[in-house]
Formats: sequence, C-alpha cells, structure tokens
Amino acid sequence: MYQDLGISREVHAYGETVLEGLKERFAGVDAVAEYNQLKVLKGMQDHQVSEACLLGTTGYGYNDLGRDTLEKVYASVFHTEDALVRPQITCGTHALALALMSNLRPGDELLSPVGKPYDTLEEVIGIRPSRGSLREYGVTYSQVDLLPDGSFDYEGIRRAIKERTRLVTIQRSKGYQTRPTLSVDRIGELISYIKGIKPDVICMVDNCYGEFVETREPGDVGADMVVGSLIKNPGGGLAPIGGYIAGRRECVENAAYRLTSPGLGKEVGASLGALKDFYQGFFLAPTVTAGALKGAVFAANIYEGLGFPVVPDGKQSRHDIIQAVTFGSPEGAVAFCQGIQAAAPVDSHVTPEPWDMPGYDAQVIMAAGAFVSGSSIELSADGPIKPPYAVYFQGGLTWQHAKFGILRSLQSLVDKGLLMSEDVTKAREKLEKSLS
Ligand SMILES: *Cc1c(COP(=O)(O)O)cnc(C)c1O
Repeated sequence: MYQDLGISREVHAYGETVLEGLKERFAGVDAVAEYNQLKVLKGMQDHQVSEACLLGTTGYGYNDLGRDTLEKVYASVFHTEDALVRPQITCGTHALALALMSNLRPGDELLSPVGKPYDTLEEVIGIRPSRGSLREYGVTYSQVDLLPDGSFDYEGIRRAIKERTRLVTIQRSKGYQTRPTLSVDRIGELISYIKGIKPDVICMVDNCYGEFVETREPGDVGADMVVGSLIKNPGGGLAPIGGYIAGRRECVENAAYRLTSPGLGKEVGASLGALKDFYQGFFLAPTVTAGALKGAVFAANIYEGLGFPVVPDGKQSRHDIIQAVTFGSPEGAVAFCQGIQAAAPVDSHVTPEPWDMPGYDAQVIMAAGAFVSGSSIELSADGPIKPPYAVYFQGGLTWQHAKFGILRSLQSLVDKGLLMSEDVTKAREKLEKSLS
C-alpha cells in the first residue's frame, strides 16, 4: 500500500528503522493515553452522561441537560470547579479573549511571565493596536521574557507584579516560537511562585495543544483558568467548532456573563446539534492526542536523522503536539508542506503555495486537508517563508495517518531533488548501527 501511495522502498525502510528505536517511547505515550482515557470515562460516568445528553436544544437553550452535563464532565476531567464549553466560543483566540476580557477590569494589569503570547492575542491585548482591545478599555499589559536558557526570570517576574496586576497569562505551548513548551510541573512552579507574591492574582493557562499530553493538566497545579480550542486536542477531531474555559467558579461565571449577558450567564446558549460530537470527541481525545504525539516524535527522529534541526529534538520529553523542523531553504519548507497536503484524506489533489496572508510579515504556506476546516488536531503543517525556513507540523487523527504523512513529506523532498535517495539510505544504515 505504501508503494501504491507513492512511497519509495528507501523512504519506507528508513521509517521502519526509525520506528524500531521508538518502541519504549511509544509505550510511554500509550500509558499516558490509557490513564487519560480512564480519566475521561470516569468523568462521564460520575456525571451520568445519558443518551438524552447527546441531543441538543434550540432557541434560548434553557435547561440544556447535555450542555450542562458536558460542562461538569470537563470540570471533573480538568479538576476545576466549573467549566464553560460552548459552540458559541468560535475558536481558541475567542476563548482566551473571553477569559481575559471577562476577568479584567479597567485599571487592571495583565502580565505574561513567559514572553510574547500567541500572535492572535497581540490584538486582543492591544500589543498591536486593535478595535476593542483590552488596552482600549484601560487594561495595561506587561511582559517578562524567559531567560536565554528557557528558564523563568524569577527576579524580573517579582519586579513586574504590582498592586494592579490582576491576571497572569501563561502559555503552555511554544506555539510558533522556538522556546521550550512548558510542562505541567513547570507551570505549577511558576504559579506557586506568583501566588506566593500575590495570592489573589488570577493565573490563566493557554492550554492549546497541551491537553492530554500528560496525565495532569494545569488545573492540577493551581491554575485558576485553563483555556483551549475544541478543534485542537480536546475535540478529538469530531468537534466541529468550540472552545472551553475550565476554572474557578467565579472566573467561569465572569466568562459566561460576558459570552452571553450579565444575569443570563450559563443559563442560555443552545447547544444545537453539537453535543454528540463534543462528547464523542472528548472521549476519543486521549487516544487521538496520543496518535498526534507519536507522529511528532516520529517526525523529529526522521528529520533529525537526516541532519535537519528539529524542536523538540528526537529524545526530549513532550508537553504539546507541535513539531518544528528547520529546512534552511524555502524549497525545503514548501516541499514538506506539499507532501503533508498530498497525504490528506480531503483535498489531497491540491497543491499549497506560499501566499501573503493578512497579519504576517512574510509569505506563509499552509497544508491542511481536514474534515473540519482549519482543524489542527488533524494532520496539518504551516511555515512562514523566511529564514530559517522552519515548518510547524501537528496532528493526525490516527497514528497511522500521521506516519504516512511524514513519510509522504520526506518523499516529496526526495522527488523534488532536495534530498537524494542515497542520503535516506545512509541515514538508515547509520541508525541501524547505533541501534545494534
Ligand atoms: C492555536 C492557538 C491559539 C489560538 O487558537 P485559534 O483557535 O487558532 O484561534 C492560541 N494559543 C495557542 C498556544 C495556540 O496554539
């Protein structure tokens, strides 16, 4: 079948050799998935998810049993007091904006102690001027960068925490940067340091791409709000839209009052037809995340063995599902993304090209052939066409598909003459020696 799908013998053989070295690593990923599967199952059983929960409401959505039960399930899995899980939250940025805007008041200050937040939050905060930003409402922002070695600048953070500091935002995933992703442990250390200085500060974690990668979530280590997108890990590939905010009751209520209206809060918001996919997706999320994680580890090892810089490297522990590979040339980045596209179940016949996307300072190429538009728990990749020509790769609803996608990307580099078949064979032989 690999041959039928265009994978050469050399590329396939290299992939199999790389896999031989990953058995223990994959067993670890499976063990986390097993734990998390039971955690989700227990949440569903404890709250008596029933057939009636899978149906939706329309109109105002009063007494939406399925919606209210799902929010209890999320709260119990994330070990928080409450949760808001809604199709009316349109994406991850919206969920984060909602959590921030509902919990900050004019005169407050927002602090990021882990460097620059995700691109789309720049306009939410007002780092880049925007209509309706926090800044327009008189919320100021301060930032403390990580130290060059990736550690927290504890002294800088202590100095940055003021009387007005009301909320601290901690991004778990590196996103499209090269800093390391934060483990839940490290997030816990940071939160306890901050609470030691100012106990009433709200600690929010941007949990995008981190859900179910470890057995613990930020709510287990003191986060007041944990926020993410349902078209990433927790939607399990089935959620067609949505976002979540899990956290302390008061924080979640503030968010609900902002999402709908003061006084109405969580009581309204029809779930329409989304609930069955929300539940089933959440149920599948631990194993889907495990598949994506194996894909990321496999990709790191495949490209590292061929001499390309990868972040994280092939051996590092993982705290999110994103893999960066640096190609050093625009042709390499484009070939990789075109290979990922060619591996897709949807739109495999189209060829992505770099284009001038609004909001970016360089051309960007994106590969996605997803069942849910833009879903990045599905196999996807993108890269800005500027030095060092890194691409960011994530997802895969099944490990088998992620594996094929990565082999297909490598094949694309070979087919375009950017790598020789002999290079692939040499990398395999070298790896075989080190394995034996
Ligand atoms: C994806 C992502 C977001 C934004 O989510 P969208 O759904 O794309 O709006 C925010 N933060 C991080 C770390 C992300 O990975």
